[in-house]
Amino acid sequence: MVDAFGQRVFDVILLDLTLPDSEGLASLPPLIKLAPSLPIVVLTNHNDEELAIQAVRQGAQDYLVKRQVNGEILLRSLRYSIERKQALENLRAVNHDLEIYAEECNSELVKAREINQFKTEFVSMLSHDIRNPLNTILLAAGLLENNEDKLPQDKKLSHFQHIRSAVKSMSQLLDEVSFIGQADAGKIQYYLEVIDLEKFCFQLVNEAKLATDDKNINLIFTSCEEFCKVTLWDESLLRHIFGNLLNNAIKYSPAGSTIHFDLINQESCVVFQIQDSGIGISQEDLPHIFEPFQRAQNVGKISGTGLGLAIVKKCVEAHNGQISVWSQKGVGTSFCVTLPLIYE
Ligand code: ADP
Repeated sequence: MVDAFGQRVFDVILLDLTLPDSEGLASLPPLIKLAPSLPIVVLTNHNDEELAIQAVRQGAQDYLVKRQVNGEILLRSLRYSIERKQALENLRAVNHDLEIYAEECNSELVKAREINQFKTEFVSMLSHDIRNPLNTILLAAGLLENNEDKLPQDKKLSHFQHIRSAVKSMSQLLDEVSFIGQADAGKIQYYLEVIDLEKFCFQLVNEAKLATDDKNINLIFTSCEEFCKVTLWDESLLRHIFGNLLNNAIKYSPAGSTIHFDLINQESCVVFQIQDSGIGISQEDLPHIFEPFQRAQNVGKISGTGLGLAIVKKCVEAHNGQISVWSQKGVGTSFCVTLPLIYE
């Protein structure tokens, strides 16, 4: 039987339920399994009506009683079964498509809800982060206005400095938010040019050193291998990535500690590793640090927006690279960025 299905195409199966090698409905289920889309008409003896009805319930399209069959009845039954099976198969296909469509709609609905939730959280975090510097400005401006004559010059200067730094932090926050918005809309500007990577990283390290304030941090840059000088990079993306990672390493490290920035050349990519011995990140916070506005619980009074790493991740992705992080609270943190080599 299996062989016959492999060799020929059938329109309908006429199944005799009273064959010498098969009793009752035993042959029906394997036949349906073998040819699920073929209509089946069963043939029974005149006293087997109950069996015939069971066969129809199990998937046969019709039944005929042997002694009552003539050519006309047989033909009508076969035609009817073919039509009925066809209609059933069409219905099944439509049902299947509908199920897939419903699943797609459902998953889109879940996604839309997630995005909505994310936007609500984003706006509430943003308003919270803007309210802080605004309060500072309001407070300092009020003090200056109400005590204009009484305030000594150095106090006045300090209030003006507070206003200035609050405005600066708001402006940085808005820049970062707008960058993330652009990245989400797939609108990051991408301009590749030949960059001498070693020289560029060395320059970034020197710039970062200027930002170490008086922490006396030892920032060590190493690049052991020979680098191809004609590879293409987007300078602005590289600045966002390594500027943020280096500044974080400095910001979250204690005075006098050492930070390593290593450049490792591989066959088709470059690995950048930034390792510090700072406050580290707990295992609980670690999975969330690339999400906007997420800051670890141990940051204490160290200031930040929680947007830097979200930007870093988007820039790494825009450069078709990958980023990973290892960290242990109280021990240190190591970020590893892998970017593919693009030749001129
Ligand atoms: P922030 O402006 O708060 O520094 P980021 O997005 O750059 O925001 O970093 C997210 C959080 O990840 C930080 O708030 C901090 O908790 C943690 N983090 C990032 N880099 C380091 C690091 N080098 N050492 C310890 N914690 C870090």
